[in-house]
Amino acid sequence: MLIVVIGSVCTALRAWLFSSASERVVARLRKNLFSHLVHQEIAFYDVTRTGELLSRLSEDTQIIKNAATTNLSEALRNLATAFVGLAFMFATSWRLTLLALAVVPAISVAVKKFGRYLRELSHKTQAAAALAASIAEESFGAIRTVRSFAQEEYEISRYSEKVDETLMLGLKQARVIGFFAGGLSAASTLSVTVVVIYGANLTITGSMTAGDLTSFILYSLTVGSSVSSLSGLYTTAMKAAGASRRVFQLIDRVSSMPKSGNKCPLGGQDGDVEIDDVWFAYPSRPNHMVLRGITLKLSPGSKVALVGPSGGGKTTIANLIERFYDPLKGKILLNGIALAEISHEHLHKQVSIVSQEPVLFNCSIEENISYGLNGKASSSEIEHVANLANAHEFISKFPEKYKTYVGERGVRLSGGQKQRIAIARALLMNPKILLLDEATSALDAESEFLVQDAMDSLVKGRTVLVIAHRLSTVKSADTVAVISNGEVVESGTHDELLIKNGIYTALVRRQLQSPNTDFSSSI
Ligand code: ADP
Ligand code: MG
Repeated sequence: MLIVVIGSVCTALRAWLFSSASERVVARLRKNLFSHLVHQEIAFYDVTRTGELLSRLSEDTQIIKNAATTNLSEALRNLATAFVGLAFMFATSWRLTLLALAVVPAISVAVKKFGRYLRELSHKTQAAAALAASIAEESFGAIRTVRSFAQEEYEISRYSEKVDETLMLGLKQARVIGFFAGGLSAASTLSVTVVVIYGANLTITGSMTAGDLTSFILYSLTVGSSVSSLSGLYTTAMKAAGASRRVFQLIDRVSSMPKSGNKCPLGGQDGDVEIDDVWFAYPSRPNHMVLRGITLKLSPGSKVALVGPSGGGKTTIANLIERFYDPLKGKILLNGIALAEISHEHLHKQVSIVSQEPVLFNCSIEENISYGLNGKASSSEIEHVANLANAHEFISKFPEKYKTYVGERGVRLSGGQKQRIAIARALLMNPKILLLDEATSALDAESEFLVQDAMDSLVKGRTVLVIAHRLSTVKSADTVAVISNGEVVESGTHDELLIKNGIYTALVRRQLQSPNTDFSSSI
């Protein structure tokens, strides 16, 4: 009775401890992987699909967990049983034991081969599953485009194809596992038969008692069953090893962008940006030089406008000032200090960007605006910047006002509304340097006028780099630089450039003729 109670309690403890340990392991693994991924350089995300990362984060870690729980505890138990059984076998008859173990070398070679093959297969299977996941992610993310081109069937077939590929690999795995289990069983039956025959012989010649033979066979059956469970566990372990390879590769991946320094430059000439002979190509397309020797100075408190044909490299310049990438050659200095030496947090407190296609988070408007301050902003501050960005009015019209949810990436708002919230978000940071990348392109002329109006008073005391698409923005800039093909082809004030009668004049003339064309449209 006591033994039953103790046994049950121990079993319960084993199950509980191992399960909770594995839950903790997987939680920690996920957190580690996520924080590691978030710190990777932007270029990594240019070449990696989000769906793949999601699949690694949720699916592969789950496989590792399954293998770690049941496996480890079962394996320990079976190993112990097998060792004790073997010891008894040896004690009963060492000769028979050696005979029974004769198949071991052959089996161990096979097991090794099988393990490697299964690991490889499992790795491939998970890679295919990740690909399928990334296709699903892409289709859902672009569901409006899919719908508008009536390509639902195409997306379904694209996804199904990848799922089928995963299935094929999975079936192959199943076959391999079946083959292995069958082979192992054949080998052990063979070994038992040989042992029984030889054992019977020994009994007949009188060198072993029938009782000993019976116990020996019982022991060997126990060992055999432990070994066959171990082989099943080995199979899951190898599958997990294959599936987790990519997880650990990701965890071991070192960001190719050197860590930022810890300097926090402040001083008299706050907000001074110097771009000095910068050459740059995106790491995902290293042969295409996007910037070729850009030299540009943003003196404190000045407003510099970049204009020029689309694809010329204007957004890239803003990306480099945000240090999303490092230049290949040349340097960018903030207040006289290279960007790489400046502390990451400090840099992004000083520099705010409103990008061409602003992305909001799936939370309330209020939380979106205060994102850069970790939500630590009073509602009056939030309202103040929303007012400046000309967003307060439309926000007040929502039934839930600042508590309105914006949906994933802000889908529940119009383009212009998103842009104004992004402007408010940037302003709340009270940055010394403001980068506006066609920040008002999604606004209609009326609200643009209002935002522009607010902006003009806002940019006072700040260094502003504005990538402009309308003449009105450009006119008031202290310096206008025309960027084409990665070079500054003209620069000066609006009036100086007009006198030059070059590309800029052509752009201006064109916009005057048809005011709706952007500056960024190609010449
Ligand atoms: P602009 O803002 O002047 O229209 P961009 O700076 O966005 O131009 O782009 C300049 C060039 O860099 C384009 O040829 C574009 O194809 C390329 N490019 C932009 N972003 C990337 C990226 N993430 N990876 C590779 N190439 C890029
Ligand atoms: Mg651009």
